[in-house]
Amino acid sequence: MPELKAIVFDLDNTLIDRNQAFRLFLEDFLARHQKNISKKDWKNIEKQDQQGYAQRLIFTKWFLNYYKLKDLSPEAFWQYMQQHLGNFVECVSSVKECLRVLNENYKLCLLTNGGSQNQRAKIHSAGLDNFFEKDKIFISGEMGFAKPSTEAFERVLAKTKTNPVETLMVGDHFINDILPARKLGMKTCWITSKPESGIQHTDYCLPHVGRLAEILKKK
Ligand SMILES: [Mg+2]
Repeated sequence: MPELKAIVFDLDNTLIDRNQAFRLFLEDFLARHQKNISKKDWKNIEKQDQQGYAQRLIFTKWFLNYYKLKDLSPEAFWQYMQQHLGNFVECVSSVKECLRVLNENYKLCLLTNGGSQNQRAKIHSAGLDNFFEKDKIFISGEMGFAKPSTEAFERVLAKTKTNPVETLMVGDHFINDILPARKLGMKTCWITSKPESGIQHTDYCLPHVGRLAEILKKK
């Protein structure tokens, strides 16, 4: 097996718990309107949000309607979300420690789907800019290519001057993160608590990214 030289990380629900940040953000927003999120509400929200993959204006329209917030347009709420979601993001210390260790031996890159402002705010708020050099952060909204397009991955490989076989892609989304990386011949690590049917298609499968340094050390 060729020696591993670079690791490409997904951001949302890989390095940060985006779903938790999203919930905290919505709770804060609703509290300002004297509203809250019940268990049933959260189930509905999760279903509509699709872990952030639902079209944003479709989600914001649904959400404002669901909570009968008539004074705000879906566009304005989307804008507000982009400006404030980052404040609720954190990267837990075990993940930071893992990145610190990996940083000593590998080139670390970040490849994330989303708008520039939103993703940059999350990266900064989580303190992740300490672990990734400026030119190793790739955001779909800035590149014009989004995962699962293989062009997004090829862009990262070209800019970091690494071969696919020497590069490990780490992400929580099987279709967006794992399959295209695999297609290009990259190594893959799927972050999931429910491996189910895809596990035979990945090189590593972990319930939490914080364990990656330990796993790679054993190899
Ligand atoms: Mg993700």
